[in-house]
Amino acid sequence: MTDLLALPFMQRALIAALFTGLAAPVVGTYLVQRRLALMGDGLGHVAVTGVALGLWTGAAPTWTAVLVAVVGAVLIEVIRERGHTSGDVALALLFYGGIAGGILITGLAGQSATTLNQYLFGSLTTLAVGDVWFTIALAAVVVVLGVGLAPQLFTVAQDQDFARVAGLRVRGYNLLVAVLAAVTVTVAMRTVGLLLVSALMVVPVATSQQVMRTFRRTMALAVALGVGASVGGLLLAAYLSVAADLTVATGPTIVLLALACFALTWPIGSWLRHRERARSPFPEVPGEEEVVVAASAHPHQHGPDCGHPAIRHGDHVDYVHDGHRHAPHEEHYDEH
Ligand SMILES: [Zn+2]
Ligand SMILES: [Zn+2]
Ligand SMILES: [Zn+2]
Repeated sequence: MTDLLALPFMQRALIAALFTGLAAPVVGTYLVQRRLALMGDGLGHVAVTGVALGLWTGAAPTWTAVLVAVVGAVLIEVIRERGHTSGDVALALLFYGGIAGGILITGLAGQSATTLNQYLFGSLTTLAVGDVWFTIALAAVVVVLGVGLAPQLFTVAQDQDFARVAGLRVRGYNLLVAVLAAVTVTVAMRTVGLLLVSALMVVPVATSQQVMRTFRRTMALAVALGVGASVGGLLLAAYLSVAADLTVATGPTIVLLALACFALTWPIGSWLRHRERARSPFPEVPGEEEVVVAASAHPHQHGPDCGHPAIRHGDHVDYVHDGHRHAPHEEHYDEH
């Protein structure tokens, strides 16, 4: 095993795995919080076209992938913001287009499926020195912005209406998370591959959420688990490949290791949830005091078909959204 660690390609792989493990759960925390766990998956599909464009034009596939994934992320945010029910379908079309276009262009470029496979399923052990620097630089950007802007980003992820009232530029921050997710997808592309990228962003966060209750701790443990899974998975795959003379793919080993952690933590999480429920059998009820929120904080007038659940409350109707019950009252909304 120590002989293996002395090999330059193995050292490059370890550095890339370490930085991917650091960056992916940082962005993943915001995506999971906003219930966008599958966004990374979609971006991974879109990035396939980016890789293929690189193979076709002779440009570095990593850079074309970043470019196309960022454009895809902005498109996804715009579609989501419109909030139409057809948004779902629009996103699906974007993702299918990404993967189909990518495979078509790879063929046009005269490249074999094997070349594309390096990006679809990861290929840590074939990294060049330039690839490692690329991974370090982009991962650093993601970690610095993701952790540095944590207070604002978390407020937005938690409750968009509150964030708007508090004067945060919700739209800008949402866009930032989408772009960081796109960059992370490209960072993780060579580690776990575009088809499994999302797993490294989501599974460590889901595991961490089993045992952690606050946002900061969830993120911290998720990052530790992400690094553990990516470095551990790489070492495990390398060890099995050498010791047992098997062909063990690194990307899937990393993802399965992360999933194993989730499976092991599940019983602890369910015990903790059971204990919490036993302590406070009733869900928290908002206090009696009346909170007034400016009507401008709402992007639309609540009404019979605005999509928010309506509840009859004495002489008026309350609309439920993002955890509050709001009733229109003259120029503002009362919180009930
Ligand atoms: Zn409404
Ligand atoms: Zn509200
Ligand atoms: Zn009411």
